Amino acid sequence: MRLAKIALLAVSFVVVCYPGNAQQNSAEPAPKLEHFDPNMVDKTLDPCQDFYQYVCSKWNAANPIPADQVAWGTGSGLQYWNENILRQALEKASAPARGRSDFEQKIGDYWAACTNEPGLEAAGSRDLKPDLQRIDGMKSNSELADQVAHIHTLVPGAWEGDDNQTAAALLGFGSLQDFDDASKVVAGIDQGGLGLPNRDFYLKDDAKSKEILTKYEMHVSKMLVLAGENSSQAAADAKTILAIETAMAKAQMDNVTRRDPKNLNNKMSLEQVQALMPSFNWKTYVADVAAPPSAPHYLVTSPEFFKGLEQIIQQHSVEDWRAYLRWHLVHGSAPYLSKAFVDENWDFYSHTLFGSKAQLPRWRRCVRAADRDLGMALGQAYVEVAFPPSSKDRTTAMVHDVEHALDQDISGLSWMQAATKEQAKIKLHAIEDKIGYPNHWRDYSSVKITRDSYLNNVHEATKFEFQRQLNKIGKPVDRGEWTMTPPTINAYYDPQLNTINFPAGILQPPYFDPGEEDAPNYGAVGMVIGHEITHGFDDQGRKFDGQGNLRDWWTPEDAKEYEQRDQCIIDEYTEEIPEAGVKQNGQLTAGEDTADNGGMRLALMALDNKLESKGKSLDAKDPDGWTPRQKFFLSYANEWCQQYRPELMRTVVLTNPHSIPKYRVNNVVSNMPEFQQAFSCKAGAPMVRAKQCRVW
Ligand SMILES: [Zn+2]
Repeated sequence: MRLAKIALLAVSFVVVCYPGNAQQNSAEPAPKLEHFDPNMVDKTLDPCQDFYQYVCSKWNAANPIPADQVAWGTGSGLQYWNENILRQALEKASAPARGRSDFEQKIGDYWAACTNEPGLEAAGSRDLKPDLQRIDGMKSNSELADQVAHIHTLVPGAWEGDDNQTAAALLGFGSLQDFDDASKVVAGIDQGGLGLPNRDFYLKDDAKSKEILTKYEMHVSKMLVLAGENSSQAAADAKTILAIETAMAKAQMDNVTRRDPKNLNNKMSLEQVQALMPSFNWKTYVADVAAPPSAPHYLVTSPEFFKGLEQIIQQHSVEDWRAYLRWHLVHGSAPYLSKAFVDENWDFYSHTLFGSKAQLPRWRRCVRAADRDLGMALGQAYVEVAFPPSSKDRTTAMVHDVEHALDQDISGLSWMQAATKEQAKIKLHAIEDKIGYPNHWRDYSSVKITRDSYLNNVHEATKFEFQRQLNKIGKPVDRGEWTMTPPTINAYYDPQLNTINFPAGILQPPYFDPGEEDAPNYGAVGMVIGHEITHGFDDQGRKFDGQGNLRDWWTPEDAKEYEQRDQCIIDEYTEEIPEAGVKQNGQLTAGEDTADNGGMRLALMALDNKLESKGKSLDAKDPDGWTPRQKFFLSYANEWCQQYRPELMRTVVLTNPHSIPKYRVNNVVSNMPEFQQAFSCKAGAPMVRAKQCRVW
C-alpha cells in the first residue's frame, strides 16, 4: 500500500499503460532528447500576459499529441528514449543463448512471452480459465475472503491503495509504516473495490459523468462476454456490479479527507477488524495471502468503509459476488491476454477515460510491464547507459544547494517563531537524499518466468511483490527501499522515511542537462528538487517529524500562521478550468501547489547563491541576450510545455492532486515578485497577482 508517497507528476507518462494493437511500427522515430532553447519563445506574445503561452505555444503547435498518447510534452521524448534503452537490454536477453545469467533468463523470457502475439492469440483466455473456475466454485458468501485473497495474489496492484482505490477487488491489504512510530512496519487495510478511478465517478450526476457510467457498464458487460458469459447474463451482471461498486463508492472516504493522515491513523487488532465486518473471514484471508499470522496492529485507513462493506456483503447473493469477482479478475488480467481483451480494455480505460486515439506499440507496453514487474534489477541496465557518476555528482550537489536554500528561507521567515524554526531545521537536516538508483538491486531469483505465458509471468511477479510487501509486517523498516524504478521520469518525497528520491530517469534533458549552464538546470530539475523538499513542509508533510513520525512540532500560533498562508494557495487554485470543463478543488491540490510554489523559490535562491559564488549575477545579460533570471523561468515553463487530451484533463482535475501544466506555470510565476522583475511586468498584468500567496 502506498498511502503517503508524494510524486511530482500527475501524468508520469505511464498513467495509461494499457495495451493493444501490436504492430511494430517501422516508421518510429529515432529516440531523441529535447534540449532547452530560450529562443523557443513566441516573441510576438507578452510574457506578462500568459507566460505558459509565451514559452510553450510554438513548441506545442509544432508537437501535436501523437495518436497513441494522451499527453505530450517536452519530457515525452525522454520517455521514449528511456524505454528504448530498456528495450535493448530486454531484446538482447531474449535469445535463449547459452550462458545467460539467471536474471537475463527472466527478463529475456518475460520479453519473449509479452511480444509473442501469435502465442497470445492462440492462448486466448486459456490461462485465466482455472481462476475463473475457482470463482464459479464459490458456494456461499462465507467463501468471499478466500476468493478475494486468491485474486489479490494474482492481479497487480492489490497492495497499492494509492489515491485511486481501483486496483484491488473489495479492499486493499498490505504493509504500512506505522504513523506514530515510523521505525515499525504494521499491517494496513485500505478501502478499495472500484473499477473507475475514484468514488466521484459513481456519485456525480452531471451529464458527462452519467455518460461515462453508462459506457463503463457496457464495458463491464463486454468483458464478461469475453470471459465466457452469454450476453443477457453479462448485461444483468454488469448492472449488479455497478450497484455493488456504487455502494462501495458511497462508503469510501473522499480523497480530501484522506489527505490528513490523522484520519487514516486507526489502529485495531484483527479481532476489532473482524468485528467491523463479521461477514468476511479475516483469519482465512490473512492465512490465504500468507501474511504473518499476527501484526503489531492493523491500520484501518477508513473504518466507515468496512462497516459499509459489511452491509454490502449481506445485501448481495453469492451469484452477485461471483459476478463481481469475475469482473475484477478479468479486468486485472485483460492487458496480458489476447487482442479482444486488450482492445476492449484499451477502449474504455485509455480511449473513453483519457482520450487516447490509438494503442501504444506492443514493445512499449512490454517495456513498461517489465519495468513494473522486474524493474528494481532491470534498472541497472538503464543506469549503466544513462547515468554516469558525473551526473550523480552534479545533481547531488544541486540537491545540497536547494536544501541549503530552505535553511536560509526558514531563518528569514517573519511569521515563524524560533521554536518552530528550530524544529523545522531539525527535520530539514534529517532528510535523506536518494539520487539515481537504490544501493542494492532487488533479488528476483524466486520469481518464475517462462516463455510460455505472459499472464502467468505477470501473476508470478505479482505474487512475489505482494509477498514481499507482506513479509515486511512486524519487521524494522527498510530505509533503503525505493518505490520508483530507476528509469522512471518522476520524483517523490516520502514523509514517513523523510527521504527525497530522484530516479535517474528524470535526471536527463530537458530536466537535468549535463551540457547546460546553471540557470536552465536550476529552473528545471532545481525546481523538481525544491518541489520534493517542500513536500516535507506542505499541509501533509508538516505533520510528520524528521524521523517520519506523525507528531505535531508546531506551536499553535505558527500552525495558525501556516494555515492562513495555505488557505491563500487553496483559494487561488480553487477555480474553473475551462479547457477541462470542470472546477478544480484547491483542497485536493494544496500540497502539490505549495510544493510548486515553494520549489520555485528555493531553486531560485539556490541559483542566486551559485552564481554569487562564481562572481556572477542573476540579472547580468549573457551573450545570448537573456539574463540567468529569465532563463531560469523560461526553463521552468519549458519543462511543463505539455498538452493533455480533454478527456485526460477532465480526469486529472477530478481525481489528481496535481494541477494541470498551464496552471503549474502561470499560477506559480504570478505569485513571484522575482518573476515580475525578470520580465519587467507592470503591476496589474495577469502574471502579477494582486494577492500573491507564499508559504515557503
Ligand atoms: Zn509533488
